[in-house]
Amino acid sequence: MMAAPLIMVGAGHAHLVTLRDWIKQGYRAPAGSLLVTPESDAWYSGMMPGLLAGRWQAEQCRAALAPLCRAAGISLQLDRLSTLDAERGTLQLASGALLTGQVISLDCGAGTPAPANSDGSVELIGAKPFGTLYRRWRQWRDAATPARIAVLGGGPAAVELVLALQRALPSCQLTLICAGPLLGAQPHRAARITRTLLTKRGIPLYEQHEINRIQDGSLLTGDGRAVRTDAVVLATGTAAAPWQEASALATDGAGFIRITDTLQSQSHPHILASGDCATLAGCPHSGVYAVRQGAVLGHNLRALLTGSPALHHFQPQPRALALLATADAQALACYGPLALRSRAARRLKDHLDSGFMRSLQVS
Ligand SMILES: Cc1cc2nc3c(=O)[nH]c(=O)nc-3n(C[C@H](O)[C@H](O)[C@H](O)COP(=O)(O)OP(=O)(O)OC[C@H]3O[C@@H](n4cnc5c(N)ncnc54)[C@H](O)[C@@H]3O)c2cc1C
Repeated sequence: MMAAPLIMVGAGHAHLVTLRDWIKQGYRAPAGSLLVTPESDAWYSGMMPGLLAGRWQAEQCRAALAPLCRAAGISLQLDRLSTLDAERGTLQLASGALLTGQVISLDCGAGTPAPANSDGSVELIGAKPFGTLYRRWRQWRDAATPARIAVLGGGPAAVELVLALQRALPSCQLTLICAGPLLGAQPHRAARITRTLLTKRGIPLYEQHEINRIQDGSLLTGDGRAVRTDAVVLATGTAAAPWQEASALATDGAGFIRITDTLQSQSHPHILASGDCATLAGCPHSGVYAVRQGAVLGHNLRALLTGSPALHHFQPQPRALALLATADAQALACYGPLALRSRAARRLKDHLDSGFMRSLQVS
């Protein structure tokens, strides 16, 4: 089997930036290079809550991959990685195809953790993959709205999703359930503002409510507290895909790929990883950091493909601005200890999000 010079896996944020930068620079990947990803479009997470709330159209929130790949000299293969043998550089795809790559770049995101025990009495749907959630949301909106949906999670994504779903599905009772405190990684003021907002919108909030069992239509905590629901949307953080640990790549205790600041695997330098599938000290799992890794990744992949020794180093910024969509004319801005909900924050969010998507359009 001929080894492809480069196999990119997943159309995550860092890969989108890599392709965009290469196109801008006029660089084309060596012939035979591939992007393997299951869908023909890449969804942009920052705009997903706005899409579900009815503010955006789907076309505004996803980037078509075929034109990006074509312009960067990459073949697009719609498939899914099932297993990776890091020692041999071989990838087994869901279709059964077997590929070998000289350089492999992984930016395939992460799953969402689900309660350990479920009897199947409640529908569970992850916040990711976005395409699946979007299609299910359309069915809920157009045909069969559940009477009750619980969003599990206490971070920005869970807050944005519960507010967006409530706006889109007014006949549905939404509930937000957090294992710990609400918005624990954000300033206290952000949690206070959000609690007030949830109360105003009639969304019950359960904090310190870790759900570990689902039985007979109820979500149960270890100490027996129960919340009844028909469906659950999981926005519970990130869970590594099982193939990562089985790949022989160095991983952390949770299965995320350990990388150096050049975004190379700590154990296999010809394999790079970025975004939520990877772990690097000081770099949280978030779209902002995945996008920033993209510029370094694009440079380093190009350097490895052309035999240049000059690799760039990624330095995660110590803090990043978080802008949470609140399914109305405002957004909640959080930076360091500061939190403020305002119309200006939403205008800034719209400007940044739509600017990013415009930058991915290839004429
Ligand atoms: C509702 C919601 C809103 C969010 N809003 C924000 C925000 O405003 N700002 C922010 O910073 N972060 C936000 N996040 C977090 C953000 O979505 C993630 O941190 C970010 O998407 C990670 O990007 P990534 O590059 O790792 O890959 P992802 O964007 O997760 O993309 C992964 C890609 O890999 C593909 N893939 C997956 N498995 C395979 C496989 N086995 N083989 C091949 N391809 C595969 C997928 O189809 C997809 O194309 C939000 C998350 C959610 C759930």
